[in-house]
Formats: sequence, C-alpha cells, structure tokens
Amino acid sequence: MKIFFISIARTRNAYNCPNLCQHFLFSFVLMILTDTHTHLYYETEEYKLTESMQRCLDNQVSRLFLPNVNSKTIPLVFALADEYPENCFPMLGLHPCDVKDVPNEETDNFVVELDNIRQEIAKRKIYAIGEIGIDLYWDKTTFAIQQQAFKTQIAWAKELNLPIVIHCRDAFDEVFKVLEDENDDKLRGIFHCFTGNTEQAQQIIDLGFYLGIGGVVTYKNSGLDKVVADIDLKHLVLETDSPYLTPVPHRGKPNESSYLIHIAQKVADLKQVSLEEVATMTTENSQKIFNV
Ligand SMILES: [Zn+2]
Repeated sequence: MKIFFISIARTRNAYNCPNLCQHFLFSFVLMILTDTHTHLYYETEEYKLTESMQRCLDNQVSRLFLPNVNSKTIPLVFALADEYPENCFPMLGLHPCDVKDVPNEETDNFVVELDNIRQEIAKRKIYAIGEIGIDLYWDKTTFAIQQQAFKTQIAWAKELNLPIVIHCRDAFDEVFKVLEDENDDKLRGIFHCFTGNTEQAQQIIDLGFYLGIGGVVTYKNSGLDKVVADIDLKHLVLETDSPYLTPVPHRGKPNESSYLIHIAQKVADLKQVSLEEVATMTTENSQKIFNV
C-alpha cells in the first residue's frame, strides 16, 4: 500500500497544479496494469532494481508476476516478492530449457531440480506453476524429459489448484497434445508469449486458457497485431517477459516491466478502445487466473 501512495504523491508532483482535473488524475492514478510474466529479478544491482520497480509504479504497472526458471533463481524471485509484497507475486516451476539429464553450471539434473522446486513450493504461497512447457527451438534432444517434467508439474498444479504458465517455442502441437491429455476442470492458465496464428489462438481459447501478449505485438511484420485485433480482450493478459522481447519504441535495449504500458497502448490501438479499458480488462483477467 505504501508504494501506491508514493505513486499518487509522485503523480501529484508531476502535475503540480491547484486546478488539476481530478477526473483525469484519478483515472490516471487508479489505472492498474498487470505484467503477468517478468524476470525483473535478474537485475542483481540493488539500486538498479529499486529504480526499475519505481519506474513500474510510475507507469501504473503495479502488479508483477515473477516466474523463476530453475532452483537457482528461486531466491531472487522470493527476495523481490518479499520486498514488494503488494506488487510482486512469485510463481515456481522448471523452465523447459533447464530440463537436463546432465547437470551444467546453471541447472542440476531435472529430477533433482524438480525435487528442489517442489520442496520450495511446500514452504510458501505461490500463485502459479511456471514457467513450464516444451521448447524445441533450443534443444530437441531433451524432448522426452521435457514432456515428463511438464506432466509432473501439471500434476502439481492440479494438486495445489494453481494455474500453469506455459512456455512453448517451436512446439505448439507437442504442448497441445499434453494439455489435451491432461485437461480436466482444474487445468487452467496462460500461454505465455503467444506468437501463433488465429487458429492456434482459438484452440487455446477453446481449452479455457488465456493468451499472454508481449512486446512482439509491437513489432512490424510479426503478424501478431492482426491476430490480436481479432481476439476478444476477455481472453488476453499482458506481459513483458523482461529482460527479453523489448517492445517498440525501446526495442534494442533490455526490456523492463515499466515498458508494459507500450504493449497495453498497442493492444488498445488494435482493439480501438482506451488504454484504461485494456488495463482494466487484462488486470481483471489476471485476477481471475491467479486469485489475487
Ligand atoms: Zn519467461
């Protein structure tokens, strides 16, 4: 709550005028944008992270969902969530690119990793199992164990009644096959960083999942703009996936969650609605998914 008031105070200073239009002020201040997928915690310089969080709050990006990627990154996620308990919400899972038979400097054998992550989940509240899924872009040789890890973590989500956050790269049919096999009335979540076509979007919607829309929607020639224009806002949530996939006009620089406002504005332009409407709808969708 403290942060929220600081945000109001800053906004008042920014518009330091006694005849300020109250309607404008409050519609602006009360807009809440939700970044449903950010690795903001990768920034380990304390002052840079603090500044980055402040820029989020200054841009009304006041809800951030943080996925780890392996057991090493869990302390970073929890540290940021502890520092900003009103704003940052942890999610835990084993990223498909970190599903390995042979340990490396980043990650242990996947069975050990899954065991470690499951133990952390038992210790404190998290809001989703993620990010999990299948990635055949970086490594096809681990496909079988990626499937296995994905299914194991889907079972956790069902057991704990949590949504899943899916990472899917060059593996739409493979991910979809698992979801169809595992589908029941408990299975729900987000297709993070959706970049597929209209038909794939419809398949996801039919399964009751949400589409996570990120910076790619701002890229010329991505084709995602036309797909998003045809999808009802009730199926969409927004995300940055920072520090990756930086939206225009910051493309080329590292991404950060405060840039979510550019993604929201692009979606508003495509849907021909106001920025506030996009913020309200996508934040409400995130509340339905995460129960917070
Ligand atoms: Zn991610």
